[in-house]
Amino acid sequence: MISAKRPWLAHYDPGVPSEVDYPKAPLYALLQESARRFPEKVAVFFYGKELRYRELLDLSLRFARGLLERGLQKGDRVALMLPNTPQYVIAYFGTLLAGGVVVNLNPLYTSRELRLLLGDSGARFLVALDLLFPRFLEIEREVSVAKVLTTGIQDWLPPPLNLLYLERARREMGWQPLPEHPLREAFERLLESPPLEEPVPSLPSDVAVLQYTGGTTGTPKGAMLSHENLMANVHQVWAWMEAGRHRQDKLRLTEGEEVGLCAIPFFHVFGMTVGLNLGIKGGGKLILVPRPEPRELLDLIEDHKVTLFPGVPTLYVGLMQAPNFGHRDLTSLKFCISGAAPLPVEVARRFEAETGALLVEGYGLTEASPVVHSNPLFGQRKVGSVGLPLPGVEAKVVDERGQEVPVGEVGELIVRGPNVMKGYWNRPTETSEALKGGWLFTGDMARMDEEGYFYIVDRKKDLIIAGGYNIYPREVEEVLYAHPAVMEAAVVGVPDPYRGETVKAFVVLKPEYRGTVTERELEEHCRRNLAAYKVPRLWEFREELPKSLVGKVLRRVLREEGGGA
Ligand code: AMP
Repeated sequence: MISAKRPWLAHYDPGVPSEVDYPKAPLYALLQESARRFPEKVAVFFYGKELRYRELLDLSLRFARGLLERGLQKGDRVALMLPNTPQYVIAYFGTLLAGGVVVNLNPLYTSRELRLLLGDSGARFLVALDLLFPRFLEIEREVSVAKVLTTGIQDWLPPPLNLLYLERARREMGWQPLPEHPLREAFERLLESPPLEEPVPSLPSDVAVLQYTGGTTGTPKGAMLSHENLMANVHQVWAWMEAGRHRQDKLRLTEGEEVGLCAIPFFHVFGMTVGLNLGIKGGGKLILVPRPEPRELLDLIEDHKVTLFPGVPTLYVGLMQAPNFGHRDLTSLKFCISGAAPLPVEVARRFEAETGALLVEGYGLTEASPVVHSNPLFGQRKVGSVGLPLPGVEAKVVDERGQEVPVGEVGELIVRGPNVMKGYWNRPTETSEALKGGWLFTGDMARMDEEGYFYIVDRKKDLIIAGGYNIYPREVEEVLYAHPAVMEAAVVGVPDPYRGETVKAFVVLKPEYRGTVTERELEEHCRRNLAAYKVPRLWEFREELPKSLVGKVLRRVLREEGGGA
């Protein structure tokens, strides 16, 4: 298909449409529609507890009314600090149905981070796990939260799991029944309200979610994602999955029949769109996993015949390390969609070879709700490439002056489409730096090949400049991953008096190679595959690498921790 958005495709048809159609309706219409079409289908499965679509909508409408009765006004922010649980899903749709704005918070945030984000967003409501309430108490006077709704994982587990969980939470996390507090109320009390008859209307341009980003690299900023942004992205991903489905029966998606494994947290934008919103749109059964462990994930895939499994590269690496991985029956899997961080070629190749599932890499960022590129599922997939822009997305590679560079050359990736955020909350300067003429400047360095496939070279800010040479850590990491002893690798630049910066590699060896494989050997392997100036001069073996909760390796932390070594 040739279109104004993909002029370079004059000679090549990847089988993915370039345009997308999506309803100009509020995001909660996804749930209303599936509750209408599939009322009796299971929407959510959580350790044996099931909610059908009709029940999920009913509970969300009760929660919405509960919020309104407690003073929520249109546009008020409701912060959610919950792992993947039925309560998250209810609070998310309930907030949107009540005209509120969801603010996603990572349950691992410390009280300092909590103060920062609750303060910046001006949230009036906080929905949190009961275990986290003490963290809120440390900062309650410094923020303007008027009500905290607390809930426990145990409250939604069937017996005897609830008692076992409680027992463990007492032992390991010091769980105690919460004291009375004027701001606190049980989440479940709101579900006693009658369901709201009509949702509070929202325009497509109204903000639906404030998604904080930059936490791993700098001061967090709230990306304002509108109902339209999120609605568009779900449909863009859906259209991409549907494209060419006639070509392979086994991979055909059937609404109301798919089973999604939701191991990526919903509070992360990738989990929110590709796990939650996409699953609900398709009327699927969502298996919620609050703390993913490889063995448990494999059990769930086998027991529930999971068909869709979005993940991050480190999760797939983790699964392959699980005992008996090769003997598991994973044949139900249709698509594994890897996002949020680069998928090393070697990891993708091994995973596909060992499971027979299709593992495709996509690329995205918070500011684009998030997905912007993906390899076509049925057309040509190129290893190492993040694929083509999704339907409705325009993408270009530009130089420092914003001019498009020739095909094959590296520059900054900029994108435009209905999924691109409205801007950053209360930050006009940062907004005008990121959005220019409707284009989002991604801060990622990329190149495009002749067929319009994009390759992410690296983050602009992770670029290492050693002795005047540009080194992209990712290229060095790819080489390290290709060594049989390497389980994980991350490369950073550390200060060097002579070269300005020098390359340092952090490596986690596979257990069977620990103590036998040396720096020397890895260095020689790098020398065989890389120009000398890219070969790491400094090495550090670790048991594991620091990661964000979603599984991204935190290069910033490595730079701070390992800078001097
Ligand atoms: P976040 O907004 O936290 O989701 O982070 C977005 C960033 O993750 C992007 O700007 C990229 O630097 C990185 N990223 C996401 N997906 C990929 C991918 N497939 N390959 C390389 N980098 C990626």
